[in-house]
Amino acid sequence: MTTLSNSPSPFWVAGKPVTGGETVVVRHSFDGSEAGSHHVPSTSDIETAVQAAHDVSGEYATLPAHVRAGALDHVSRVLGERSEEIAQLITAESGKPLKWSRGEVGRAASTFRWAAEEARRFSGDLQRLDTDPGGTGRLALVRRVPKGPVLGITPFNFPLNLVAHKVAPAIAVGAPIVLKPAPATPLTALLLGEILAETGLPAGSWSILPVSNEESARLVSDPRLPVVSFTGSVPVGWGIRDSVPRKHVALELGGNAAVLVCPDWTDLDFAAQRIATFAMYQAGQSCISVQRVYAHAHIYEELQAKVLEQVRALGTGNPRADGVDVGPLINTAAASRVESWIASAVEAGGELLTGGKRDGATVEPTVLANVPEDASVMADEVFGPVVSITRVESVEDGVRRINDSRFGLQAGVFTRDLPTAFDVSAKLRVGGVLVGDVPSFRADQMPYGGVKDSGVGREGPASAMADFTEERVTVLTGL
Ligand code: NAD
Repeated sequence: MTTLSNSPSPFWVAGKPVTGGETVVVRHSFDGSEAGSHHVPSTSDIETAVQAAHDVSGEYATLPAHVRAGALDHVSRVLGERSEEIAQLITAESGKPLKWSRGEVGRAASTFRWAAEEARRFSGDLQRLDTDPGGTGRLALVRRVPKGPVLGITPFNFPLNLVAHKVAPAIAVGAPIVLKPAPATPLTALLLGEILAETGLPAGSWSILPVSNEESARLVSDPRLPVVSFTGSVPVGWGIRDSVPRKHVALELGGNAAVLVCPDWTDLDFAAQRIATFAMYQAGQSCISVQRVYAHAHIYEELQAKVLEQVRALGTGNPRADGVDVGPLINTAAASRVESWIASAVEAGGELLTGGKRDGATVEPTVLANVPEDASVMADEVFGPVVSITRVESVEDGVRRINDSRFGLQAGVFTRDLPTAFDVSAKLRVGGVLVGDVPSFRADQMPYGGVKDSGVGREGPASAMADFTEERVTVLTGL
């Protein structure tokens, strides 16, 4: 086992562990302690992995569905069996509080399980062609076949489950995958390699390469990897898409998720608890963290007081300790940027209701009110434990402000009024709307993704499987 051991983790080339050469130490952002280390692929290791993916792709696509589903079920089961060890590793390398790391392992097990189920029912279509005289006696068999090997690139904030969202659908459709994990959190992905190696999937069908951003950019431009599935920041994602216009590039990027609390919503304790928890969840380092709250004037004062009370009750500190809700950010530079954005919001006229201070990589859970819409904490992605509450005079005003953003991942609306729920859901320009909840909910089987700067394409096993494949038509004649 590589977990928290002293020996550097191997990386994985064509399903085989590789050691030797340079090693890199991964540090815990809370106290700088060593989370582990790993070997670094050489140029020739990268070449071997990419060529192997290319070489295996035709044959791999014909692997029976029951074999692919069985492999996915195996991964799901072992993630469950090794969940505590893996959760400890996620916390060690990401600084995420243990309770959230445990939740992430459970979610990843479910992502693999869903992919197994989808692999069993993933099929094609039969189309009759005799709707016009020229098609008489003909029938089209429409199958979905992999577009080719997938390059999966993942961010630091969910080191396991976002890797699962690339690897599991690729296995489910029989597309080889080269996975490039985030430099801050590669160890969990490398540990997943141990479990994948037990599945007996064909050599070449998967590789895990913890390489630099420069090497990652080279992989993006490699013609042997025609599909790029990227989760990460807005500028990097769109830069990738612009650099390879002829490739299929799916982007799961950032946002400044908002929630609207309508005047009819009476359970303000519930709304405040959800807002406080999911503004500060993972120290705000989630792409659907609650960043903007628009509260109707009718409930604004009471909601604000309740959110403050809930935020002040959160436990902050060492993410390894029980009872800690909010740990450090991924590094001190990120925390220092968040601190400066809070200061700018206050300079611009926003009220600081609680928090605002930084200690190393840890930022206090922070609540601001009535911040101008063009301040960074409103207009950009904070990716820190900061939420801004703004009074709105009408539901329409709230919808307008939510939409007045360059992002569009998910949004929440607290209402019990069905016509309002439908109307607001129809008007919000986002990938998903949560009615009666904050925007931060994601079930791993549902279609998930954004519009505008937040990305293009949808994840979730079924959506990603459709994305990694294309239709191939066989026309049967003389029937
Ligand atoms: P990032 O963009 O800095 O890095 C993401 C990945 O891209 C890393 O593996 C990195 O090494 C790689 N990379 C960086 N430059 C590259 C280049 N030029 N070419 C190829 N690869 C390159 O993002 P991050 O800081 O790791 O993650 C945080 C971001 O991810 C936030 O914006 C967050 O909103 C977003 N995110 C989105 C989702 C979603 O599903 N929409 C989920 C989680 C995180």
